[in-house]
Amino acid sequence: MPSRFAALLILLLPTASASAQIRHEIRVPDLPEFRTLVCDFHMHTVFSDGTVWPTVRIDEAWRTGLDAIALSDHIEFQPHAADIPTNHNRPFQLCEQRAKEHGLILIRAAEITRQTPPGHFNALFVNDVKPLETADFLEAVRQANQQGAFVFWDHHDWQGPEAGGWLDIHQQLLDGKLLHGLEVANAGNYFPRAHRWCLDKNLTMLGNSDIHPPDLRAESTSGDHRTCTLVFADGEGAEGIRQALVAGRTAVWFGDRVIGRREWLAPLFDACVEVDPPHLRAGNDVWVRVRNRSPFDLKLSRTAGSGPERIELPATTVSLLKIRLPENGTATEFAYTVDNFLIEPGIGLPVVHRLAQAD
Ligand code: ZN
Repeated sequence: MPSRFAALLILLLPTASASAQIRHEIRVPDLPEFRTLVCDFHMHTVFSDGTVWPTVRIDEAWRTGLDAIALSDHIEFQPHAADIPTNHNRPFQLCEQRAKEHGLILIRAAEITRQTPPGHFNALFVNDVKPLETADFLEAVRQANQQGAFVFWDHHDWQGPEAGGWLDIHQQLLDGKLLHGLEVANAGNYFPRAHRWCLDKNLTMLGNSDIHPPDLRAESTSGDHRTCTLVFADGEGAEGIRQALVAGRTAVWFGDRVIGRREWLAPLFDACVEVDPPHLRAGNDVWVRVRNRSPFDLKLSRTAGSGPERIELPATTVSLLKIRLPENGTATEFAYTVDNFLIEPGIGLPVVHRLAQAD
């Protein structure tokens, strides 16, 4: 006869296994006025050329600390069509409930997939993907826009720099307000030209994984994470993300780099780094603690004034710096460039810190 304890164990078992879904958060600090969301707006499932069932994408995103994802299966490229029927709205439908259960923001999306040029374009926030399935490329993009979509150009130079140039068709999309952003990074590639185009043409910067196989990561770390988009939102849910994308409030986390406009990287850096007042002075030397709250390894180079020539602040650590002040002891301003916060191709974010008095 089973004991009451054994019966209790049997009752508890299903609950215990269901609660074993562990999430490792990515702690990117919020900005003073905006909440920072870690998002991936480009990925595939078996409904196009990916190798996972759609709900797996929800579990992966939850586990590795993402806040929002878009399943963006190719409309025109479906190598599994013999096994998986064409139904462009089905990946979202299959995931909608699971995303809600996990508190993950799921955005309905699709990838308009044409020869390069014009290339591949993701449409986010569409209501119905079916009308985008049309032979006329411009008509597909117009259909997406009629549904209120946010449209961005994916990995512009994946077929080489010449095929991926800014051509008449792209200018036409821009002039018609049909194109709203560019991937400045996709998976393992950073596109300096796209970075420049975003600055010059006032387009939103995005970075995405474009993942096709399963994501085998247990968690996201500074050294191993998806290429993703940081969205600075002031509204809730998908609508909050849509508004932020339209307003261009994004940055891109790519490898050890954060890429974006100075307007957003400056407050992001300020939110990531905290410098304590010196806790010890001896002659012209002071010791200070510098806290990096972010998941980014920060790399700084001195541009003027005192302080170490180079400073590295590993993610989520406190660094101890010994700083020799100049002989007159008056200069307390430190000017650095954050080499891996790129505000333009090849140009790091300038930052200035004024050392507080200890007493
Ligand atoms: Zn893709």
